[in-house]
Parts: sequence; C-alpha cells; structure tokens
Amino acid sequence: MQVINKWIEKEPSQNAVTILRDRYFLKDGEGNYLESTWDEVAKRIARHVAAAEVNYTNDIEEIKNAEEHFYQLIKSRIFLPNSPTLFNAGKTMDRQLFKKDIEETTLEDYKTIFDSRTKHNMLSACFVIPMDDSMNAIFDAVKNAALIMKYGGGVGYDFSVLRPKGSSIAGTGGKSSGPISFMHVFNTAASTIEQGGARRAAQMAVLRYDHPDVFDFINSKKDNKGSNVLNYFNISVNIDNPKKFKKMLEEDGDLTLEHPTSSIKKTIKANDLMNKMVENAWKTGDPGMLFLGRHNQYYAMSEHTPVTATNPCGEEPLPPFGSCNLGSIDVAKLVEDIDLGNPNSEDASEFQEIVYWAIRFLDDVIESNIYPLKEIEEISKKQRFIGLGIMGLADALYKKELPYNSEQTRKFMAKLIAELAYFSHVASTELAKERGNFPDFQRSKYPNGFIPFPMLDDEIDEDLKVWNQKIRQHFQGEATKYKRNVQTNTIAPTGSISNLADTSSGIEPNFLLSYVRYMTNKEGDRVPLSYINPILMEKIGTNMTEELKAEIIEKGSIQNIENIPDEIKKIFVTSMDIPPKDHLLAQHVIQSYLDASCSKTINMPKSSTIEDVKAIYLQALELNLKGLTIYRDGSLETQVLTSASKE
Ligand code: UDP
Repeated sequence: MQVINKWIEKEPSQNAVTILRDRYFLKDGEGNYLESTWDEVAKRIARHVAAAEVNYTNDIEEIKNAEEHFYQLIKSRIFLPNSPTLFNAGKTMDRQLFKKDIEETTLEDYKTIFDSRTKHNMLSACFVIPMDDSMNAIFDAVKNAALIMKYGGGVGYDFSVLRPKGSSIAGTGGKSSGPISFMHVFNTAASTIEQGGARRAAQMAVLRYDHPDVFDFINSKKDNKGSNVLNYFNISVNIDNPKKFKKMLEEDGDLTLEHPTSSIKKTIKANDLMNKMVENAWKTGDPGMLFLGRHNQYYAMSEHTPVTATNPCGEEPLPPFGSCNLGSIDVAKLVEDIDLGNPNSEDASEFQEIVYWAIRFLDDVIESNIYPLKEIEEISKKQRFIGLGIMGLADALYKKELPYNSEQTRKFMAKLIAELAYFSHVASTELAKERGNFPDFQRSKYPNGFIPFPMLDDEIDEDLKVWNQKIRQHFQGEATKYKRNVQTNTIAPTGSISNLADTSSGIEPNFLLSYVRYMTNKEGDRVPLSYINPILMEKIGTNMTEELKAEIIEKGSIQNIENIPDEIKKIFVTSMDIPPKDHLLAQHVIQSYLDASCSKTINMPKSSTIEDVKAIYLQALELNLKGLTIYRDGSLETQVLTSASKE
C-alpha cells in the first residue's frame, strides 16, 4: 500500500517518544526498559495479535502475511489499537520470540506465543459490569471492576438496579443507603487501583431518569472541582426515549419516579429534572445524557442482551459483561493521498484495504485477549464486539482546507464515516465467510436485513446517495448470511494514542493550536517545550515570524490575531472557536453511520448561560445522537489543557 510507504519511516515526535517511554515501552520486573524504539513496540503487537491466526490456519505464510500487514499499519501509525493492546500485548512473554526476524519465525513460535498468554495480556479498553441489588453482588462488581482497571480497562455500570435510598432491607430491618453511596465505594476502589495500575482508572455511572434517587445522582458531582468528588466517574442520566421525554417537557408533564423493588414513589415535573441536569452541567459538565433506547434500537442483539451502560467516555454501549477492543485510523495521514468519502475515487480500494486489515486485527484481538472474567470471555466471543474508528479528523480538515463548522464539511464527515462503516461491515462479512459468523448471529437482527445505524438522507449529497445504496445492498444481501462481529465501528477519544500518532484526537476539533508543555530533561530541570500545530506552521510558511509565533502560543487560537488572513482563520478553528450547535451537528452526522457510538464533547464558551446549555440539551433530544456531553470552558479548576495566556 503506497500511503503506508510514505509514513512508515517517519519517526514519532519528541512528545510521542516521551509518552512511549513513560507508559508503553515494556519493562522487566526491576523497572529496566526492555524496549527503546517504536519499531520494537509495533513488532511486538503485530506478532502477538497475528499469533491468534493459528486458530484458523496452519499455513505459516498466511500468518506472516497478517503479521506484516499489522506491523506496517502500526509502524506507520496509520492505525493504532487502544492503549491496553499497546502496553499489554506480548507482556511477560519470552522476549526472544519477539526479537526474531519474521523470516525466521516458525509456526511453533506463533503457537508458543498464543499458548503462553497470561492474565497480563488483557487487551481491551471497554467493559460493562452488571450488579444486582444485593451486598454480595455489589461487592462482586467492585472486585470485577478492580481486576479490569488494574490492566488499564475502563468500566461502565448501570446503578438503576439498586433500590432507592431509604427503602427497606429485609435482611437487616434497616434502610438502604441508595446507589450514590455505593458509587463512592467504586470510586475509592478506583483511586486505590490507580496507584498500582497501568493508567488512570475511569468509570461511567448510569442511572435511569425515573429512578427515585435521580436528583441525588444529578447532584452527586455538583461540588466537583475536577479532582475531588467522584472523580473517577463520569455520570450520565439514561433517558430511554428522548423524543418522548421532549414531548413531556413541551407539555410540562409530570414524571413518576419509582423503582420495582421499593415502595418509594414521587411525582415531579419533567421540566424540573431537565432544569437540574442543565444547571449542573453548566457548573461542572456532569451529568451527561445517555439514550439507551436508541442504542438498543441499533444493536443487533438487543432482544436478547440489551445494552445497559457504556464505557467511561460514552463511545461503547455494551450489555452486561460485554467488552470491546478499539482501534483508530489516522485520517490526517491519508487525506493528501486518498480521496476519502468519494465512492468513485480510484484510491477507495486503498482505504478499503487499510480498513480490512484493521478489522482483521481487531477480530484477532478477540482471540489473543485474556479476559478478566469467564463471563466476559463468553459474551465477547459469542458476539465479537470490535470498534474501528478514526482519529485526526481536525488535522485532516485543516489539510483539506475545510472549516469544521460548515455544511459542506458535514457532508464530508458523513461520507467519510459512511465509507468507514461500509468497508468495515464488508470486511466483517468477508471474515465471517472464512472464520464463521459470530455464534449469536442467527438470533440477531442481521438475518432480517437489519441496518445497524440510522443513515442520513440521500438528498443531501450525490456521493452519500451512493454510499447509502451500497450500505442498503450489503445489509439486505450478504450481511443476512455472514457477519463476524455484532458491531464494528466506535470512535474513541484517542486521548493517548493520538499523541503517539502525532495527530488530532478522535473526531474533535483541536482544543488549542499551540501550547506549552513542560518536560523534565536529563539534569532533572523542567524545560518548556512550545508546540504549534504543524499544518498551521506549514500554511503560514515564511510569514511565520518569531512575534507571530509568540502571539499564537500566547492565545492558543488565531481568531483574534490581526496579521493572519481571514481564509486561514476560517479553516484553522479550535474547539472554542466553533459554535456549540456546530459541535452538535458534527456529532449528529457522524453518529448517523456508527453502529456503536462516538466520544464527543460539545464545547461551550465560558460566557454561556444556563439557557444556552438548555438549548443544546433540548436540541440533542431531536437528533441522531446516542448521548450528550457538554463542557463549558473554565468550569473545572483542573481543566486538562489551557492556552499559555490562561495559565
Ligand atoms: N480509558 C481508561 N482510562 C483512561 C483513558 C481511557 O480506562 O485513562 C478507557 C475508557 O474506556 C475509554 C477508552 O479507554 O473510553 C478509550 O479511551 P482513549 O481512546 O482516550 O484511550 P487511548 O487508547 O488513547 O489510551
């Protein structure tokens, strides 16, 4: 593949190497580095995952071919798997097996790799753990979650099953302390694990909108300053049917809060609930909304194992004990050479090939993974969830000179994700022909011609019409017989891997065009490293004076810099330069082609009012979204990124 040759020898930036050294290079038990280059990491992951192919073939050349494709995708950083795969593949195994040249590697070597996997080789980022309304079950869930977080996975839970605060407890004659009190237990467990674990523990708590404790839930992070209250949780209110809820709000209707295991019952105004959610989201970003009904509508197994929560960042809906491994293609590395989104382009086949190998890699991860619990292994192998997404969208748009916030760009976004979805599903069907369907296939909705996402109207774009036709044809044709994976597409935040790939994260606009990062040098001194988006640097070219550079670093955005022409300002927008409604519409078009979901934050300016936030919450109920997360600039004291002028 030509485009791979262009990127394969490009070394990761200094920033990426620092992150690799901090978190990804393997170390021995004494903390000595076993790896020092990106090439070694790419080879380790490619070989570990390709070894899963021993389950399907004895043809060594076929396995090597798979390893070579995986290696090239990863080494070029055109495709990267989620962090747990990067740091846990090949871990604690015989190093010699990973140092051999591919020519010398034997079938026995691949089998040895596959057979020597241990609990340290946990490769997935996303899990949902169920709990029942009993002490035993709750503390089992704490333990299960702890095992997952220890190896770098994120966990979501539906707390709605727990009876409300003040309900009777038959065993003790006392009163229940309610779901929020238990969330604190999970939070403490997460903070303890973090100290010895692979990375920051992350969790999602979901509660139904009609649970009697929903106000306590909405208020549970109210006093959060970013680092104190329930800081290992994102919280989302599940509004099963957003359109019905919207109607209730318009009619100023009543809502009954009740729970099947409790006599507690309250009647409230639906608008009071909405206003409280909005007020708190304005203050701290929490709670978000989650539309699980819509998730189930587009999930092929919802009649048997409905999804009950998402992973921590909201992009992966899962049923109880579900798990998913994610991977992301950096579209910024492709746009100059492949006419993405255009169904008639000659190089569409090159993108199709990248997608095919990425899907095959993720499907192999299901086999090479060691699961923290047998229940997780069971459903993960019966349904075979994988999540291929993209990163680098914002940088790709800079390169294509398309402003993130325009109608024309939204058409491009829709076509790009439609193309990704189409090629991913075709790949999953191809794999099914060779390896078999996911075991639950016959019970799923696919045999009936089910399309697992809503799509957008044909009329908005000729090319999109072509993608829509291809998609319909696929799901009404071959997909009724063959499907290897219940879901194939998820867009992750790519918080770490986009840094490794030196690209913008997920589908988000760049938060800043420049910033200062402090690094510790060999002498132990903290030295400032300033970064300016390289595509902007190239665009401004020789007009980039030292004064201009300093001003860009100071402001983080170029919108208020006099000497920069308007055409450049229009294209090089940051999250905060984009009106919230355009964030929302971007999420809407992208979500329209995803069978799982996407991680997206609707950024709002600091000056936004509670009414502004409410308008976004109300609009979200109408669109093709599966959830909503907003963030008002400056609302948390420990915001991750700020421009130099705000520090
Ligand atoms: N995640 C986690 N802890 C973290 C970051 C991420 O548990 O500190 C999990 C979580 O489920 C999240 C998913 O990994 O939704 C993907 O996050 P991201 O794409 O940012 O991870 P990366 O692969 O870039 O590290």
